[in-house]
Amino acid sequence: MAKIFCIANQKGGVGKTTTTVNLAAGLVQVGQRVLMVDLDPQGNATMGSGVDKRKLAMTVYDVLLEAASIVDARVHSEKSGYDVLGANRELSGAEIELVPLERREKRLKQALAKVDKDYDFILIDCPPSLSMLTLNGLCAAHGVIVPMQCEYFALEGVTDLVNTIKQVHANLNKDLQIIGLLRVMFDPRITLQQQVSEQLKGHFGDKVFNTVIPRNVRLAEAPSYGLPGVIFDPSSKGAQAFVAFAQEMVGRLL
Ligand code: ADP
Ligand code: MG
Repeated sequence: MAKIFCIANQKGGVGKTTTTVNLAAGLVQVGQRVLMVDLDPQGNATMGSGVDKRKLAMTVYDVLLEAASIVDARVHSEKSGYDVLGANRELSGAEIELVPLERREKRLKQALAKVDKDYDFILIDCPPSLSMLTLNGLCAAHGVIVPMQCEYFALEGVTDLVNTIKQVHANLNKDLQIIGLLRVMFDPRITLQQQVSEQLKGHFGDKVFNTVIPRNVRLAEAPSYGLPGVIFDPSSKGAQAFVAFAQEMVGRLL
């Protein structure tokens, strides 16, 4: 059965999508079978995996509203090497459409139960909010990976997310735990980043992943080619860091 992880942080632009697609591609490189679920109506993880969100006949939206089976809605991305349950703008409607429905926060969990035998890992890219969509992700997952930049207010932001995760753990999903905090867009030349990084380790201990993802322009360029950075430029520092992160993840679960 697959290990299911949400990549979440209620802040936008912190590297969630970059982490999701590159960890997915890195896991494929180390021999894992992966499904990537895009829960953000922006569909950046879908496009960044080489799947055109405008051409999808079925998306995670249809799956959440039980208008399609996940078995039919997932597609294989030849470019990135993993399966994708894609998203596009339509998904923004789900937020409201789910409200009156039964089991509204458990829809994704139920869908993933139908395919979790097909994968070693299922990675869920969450939107930048603590919304009904994110809640579906948190209810479906065994754990949360939190990408964060080592900036001044970083700790404060993480505290909100940790509280939400505790509430979901207590009320909706006993399995849920924080797998770890991933330092991303890291620039070791900036003293403040080093200081915040040390603070993080002091505060969260071994919940901080050993791997650090550097700021690397190749990771930022890759989405415009519809590729994860790991595949776009495997020799880049960013790509190598994500493959190392994939190895760290697999090692932690053994
Ligand atoms: P989120 O999904 O949290 O909104 P993204 O993954 O889309 O964040 O990243 C925000 C922006 O930062 C994007 O333009 C992305 O290409 C860029 N970016 C993310 N990680 C890195 C990195 N390690 N080095 C350089 N640019 C990065
Ligand atoms: Mg994103």
